[in-house]
Amino acid sequence: MDHQNTLDFAKTLDNSDPLKSFRSKFYFPQHNGKEAIYFTGNSLGLQPKTTQGYIQQELNDWAQYGVEGHFLAKNPWMPYHEFLTEKMAKIVGALPEETVMMNQLTVNVHLLMVSFYRPTKQRYKILCEAKAFPSDQYALQTQIQFHGLKVEDTLIEVAPREGEYHIRHEDILLAIEKNKDSLALIMIGGVNYFSGQVFDMKAITAAGHKAGAIVGFDLAHGAGNLKLQLHDWDVDFAAWCSYKYLNSGPGSVAGAFVHQRHLKNTDLPLFAGWWGHDKSTRFLMDKTFVPMQTAERWQISNAPVFSMAACRASLDIFEEAGMDRLVEKSTNLTAYLEFIVEEINKTKNNCLQIITPKENRGCQISIVANGYGKALYNKLIENGVIPDWREPNVIRCAPVPLYNSFEDVYRFGAILKSLL
Ligand SMILES: *Cc1c(COP(=O)(O)O)cnc(C)c1O
Repeated sequence: MDHQNTLDFAKTLDNSDPLKSFRSKFYFPQHNGKEAIYFTGNSLGLQPKTTQGYIQQELNDWAQYGVEGHFLAKNPWMPYHEFLTEKMAKIVGALPEETVMMNQLTVNVHLLMVSFYRPTKQRYKILCEAKAFPSDQYALQTQIQFHGLKVEDTLIEVAPREGEYHIRHEDILLAIEKNKDSLALIMIGGVNYFSGQVFDMKAITAAGHKAGAIVGFDLAHGAGNLKLQLHDWDVDFAAWCSYKYLNSGPGSVAGAFVHQRHLKNTDLPLFAGWWGHDKSTRFLMDKTFVPMQTAERWQISNAPVFSMAACRASLDIFEEAGMDRLVEKSTNLTAYLEFIVEEINKTKNNCLQIITPKENRGCQISIVANGYGKALYNKLIENGVIPDWREPNVIRCAPVPLYNSFEDVYRFGAILKSLL
């Protein structure tokens, strides 16, 4: 279908959108008494209207039962994390036993690297993407130092070529091949937070394994955005947060994946806590750690029930929407945004540059507005658009299929055009 930069056209697309009713399940920030154009679901997803009820239930049960809520609450707290597992596993293409919700994202990256980054004299290098999210860079650097190694001898960062914004897949494969005798781990963000580039996780995993390395992904921008198949792709481990596309609230509980083939290996070193102990004997309080044979082994502490309640509210919505439908709408919505930006560009001397690849992307478009800089971002905010700004020069826009509309995209374009 040929796109048009008109309100009528956008409304037509909205009317035929099978997911259109989901928008009303979320609270939108207000701007001058109207819903803001919220394009920041890749940073903090909006609040589902049901979240409050899910948390209130746990507050009520806490008031009513005190400690006995661990067993007597409507949703007993003792196994509360288990309520999330199946739905979460489906979203990332994992088996339930491979999936656990626990801690925060960077904490999970560290905990998983304790088990899966085991440098030897021969194999010790880590390959990552250049300009990874800072928290990931710090995690990688300090893990390397923790093993008594030097970052500059150990970390291989694959960068875009001179003058380019994306990392070429062939360059990643080349770097793997070149380091195949010394590579211990590949640890890449499934989606680059800055450019929005999605990496070919299946191919990277296969190439990594062929080279004898372990392969893990940070899926902060992947979970709830892309159709992931962590199990089938044979990924070794992954971690993600739940407050971006997964709408579970600021700082909410994160996710972790460990492939089935590692779950029986009880020799894997790890930092253990009582919630990773075999649950049938956990409360015998014995001093010997008996590891769970599921991803729950990596849990350390008992479950943060309130943030899990918020997560549960959102996962129930995802279950209803389904990743297949979300990805289909996301593709269309993002293509429409790209079209609108390109249309505007024709009348504005091509001052806008989309640095997100046309292929290999999720629902994010990163725009460099040449000659405008952060002032343009500030003006967008003043006019009721909420995108986000990433230094040094990028405006990121994420039209999220769960609650953004084609009309949002059209209106965004009209405001953007008026500001250039
Ligand atoms: C958002 C994000 C983080 C944030 O880490 P937290 O531990 O949740 O604070 C880390 N890595 C990536 C790639 C991110 O996009």
